[in-house]
Amino acid sequence: MPSRRRTLTAVPARVDLDKDRAVLPRYEHGTTPEFLMTFRQLAAAGLRPGGHDPVAVLRCRRCAYHPTRECTRPAALYDSRRALPKRTPTLAQEAALDSAMAARQTCQQCGVRQPHCLPVADRRCHPCATGGSLAAAA
Ligand SMILES: [Zn+2]
Ligand SMILES: [Zn+2]
Repeated sequence: MPSRRRTLTAVPARVDLDKDRAVLPRYEHGTTPEFLMTFRQLAAAGLRPGGHDPVAVLRCRRCAYHPTRECTRPAALYDSRRALPKRTPTLAQEAALDSAMAARQTCQQCGVRQPHCLPVADRRCHPCATGGSLAAAA
């Protein structure tokens, strides 16, 4: 990894584990305190790092058997107590979105939902809009 970053910049955009593992506490697999989680573990718990840098480094599973070896595949550990909820829509939000979409996509004449939004002025599907008189007569 090229190191063009100067050490005095206030907040590094990305954490360079190669540089930081010298100062961050490291943990072997299975010895991590409960509140420390990898990005993947946070995501699995519905969380994301709360804008903070990793607070520790997790050595990879293979290195657990070689305590003196310098781990080449360390994982960043984040403090889950400072983590925030993932920004994914909740089921309720999705339902609201879907009903909003349904209103835009459902033909007011035949009531069939189309896979695309219908014209705002005339919420009818193409067959209804073009052959409306035929369908209305039937
Ligand atoms: Zn390793
Ligand atoms: Zn229609």
